[in-house]
Amino acid sequence: MKIFNPATGQFIKDIEEDTIESISEKIGYSRISQEEWAAKTIDHRIEVIKTFSKLLKSNIELLANDLTSEVGKPVQQAESEIKGAVQRIKFFVEHCKQYLQNETVFEAHGVREMISYEPLGLVCNISAWNYPFLVGVNVFIPALIAGNAVIYKASEFATITGQNIHRLLLEAGVPKNVFQPVIGKGDIGEVLLKSELDGYFFTGSHKTGLHISEMVSHKLVPLQLELGGKDPVYIADDIKDIKSISGSIADGAFYNNGQSCCAIERIYVHESIHDKFVTEFLKHVKKFKVGDPFLEETYLGSLARPQHVDFLQSQVINAKTQGATVEMGGKSPQRGYFSPTVLTNVSHSMSIMKFESFGPIIGIQKVSSDEEAIHLMQDTDYGLTASVFSDNEARANTILKQMKTGTVYWNCSDRVSPYLPWSGRNNSGLGLTLSHLGIRNFTHPKAWHMKM
Ligand code: NAD
Repeated sequence: MKIFNPATGQFIKDIEEDTIESISEKIGYSRISQEEWAAKTIDHRIEVIKTFSKLLKSNIELLANDLTSEVGKPVQQAESEIKGAVQRIKFFVEHCKQYLQNETVFEAHGVREMISYEPLGLVCNISAWNYPFLVGVNVFIPALIAGNAVIYKASEFATITGQNIHRLLLEAGVPKNVFQPVIGKGDIGEVLLKSELDGYFFTGSHKTGLHISEMVSHKLVPLQLELGGKDPVYIADDIKDIKSISGSIADGAFYNNGQSCCAIERIYVHESIHDKFVTEFLKHVKKFKVGDPFLEETYLGSLARPQHVDFLQSQVINAKTQGATVEMGGKSPQRGYFSPTVLTNVSHSMSIMKFESFGPIIGIQKVSSDEEAIHLMQDTDYGLTASVFSDNEARANTILKQMKTGTVYWNCSDRVSPYLPWSGRNNSGLGLTLSHLGIRNFTHPKAWHMKM
């Protein structure tokens, strides 16, 4: 498989892809090693993961450089992602033991009832390229601590990062066959779907997620899908500090080039503050530096997939032909890049307000009431996050309670915490990661009825 730098188009390296035979061999070895790994104490597994976390920190420069080279993410943001992954691992090493130990839930009249948490076995983790460290650790760290073996397919756009993760896990003490990388594109992922595995944990697009669900549902093994979003934000008319919230919203829309599952993809603003908000918002976005992702001042590097420029361009053309105003951007200044783009006078008949853009492009729509905002925010097939900016907590709560999303934000956005479950509804997915619920997801709870 040939790996290219999306920012320069330069060839980086050739990496050998897996085959049906090599995957089958890996799965065979992992089956045996998983039992040995599960037989170790949880303290041992946690110590190994702590060592992995230290290795992430001590190798941060190299890891960030490789990530930037293969996905075009500004190197500062690549480093922040790795630091974020270290923080998530801290949560898991501090909490997994508590949530995976046997629980006595009832004891009386000579009967004891207990729950134990047993590993699923050999789990498959098919991952995305946009935050390969973060979305990766959400799955493979709790899976490993719970005693599972992991077959890990990094995205074809983050293969080098996948190899780095594999190397450091082995260096930390994870046995060779307990974490097995599988290298390749969708066709290689397809081989995993046809293999005998004990659970499927996927992060990626709705289209692929749906296909995976169709392919593996007959196996009756746990399936988890963390998919895309079209996340809305509403700015109510009681907001006084428009200047500072417009900066935070601009960041939520454009960080990582808008290539975040929970990036702000739609903005609704009360008509009484619309013009002021747009003016302030544009001031922030105009300050974002676009360019070489290796330069310290760069905020927007190249897109990870240069061909995605065509889709973003089509959303701009679709909106313009229906009367939208291009306040800034709307073009690709050079191969693989897309200028930060802000559109106003948009509506829900336009693709930009309905379909995931996954790029540095945002529509701002005027609304006349909270009711209209609620209706528009819910006019979507997705259900990942929704956010309200208001100086009145009760007003925000009333709106957020009506959102059919896995996550809601009051006066913030584009935020993930390891203490909270991360989940999507409808086209945004199935199941969850993170929090104590996300730890137990990699286990079979077993019910014990014991008569003493
Ligand atoms: P994608 O669906 O194109 O690819 C994801 C993974 O699936 C890759 O590893 C790919 O090789 C593999 N794959 C593709 N076809 C396959 C097949 N037929 N069988 C098995 N595997 C296959 O998604 P992407 O472009 O890597 O990621 C972007 C998407 O991921 C966006 O929609 C984004 O919103 C979403 N995402 C969601 C979350 C979340 O937590 N909800 C997090 C990150 C990204």
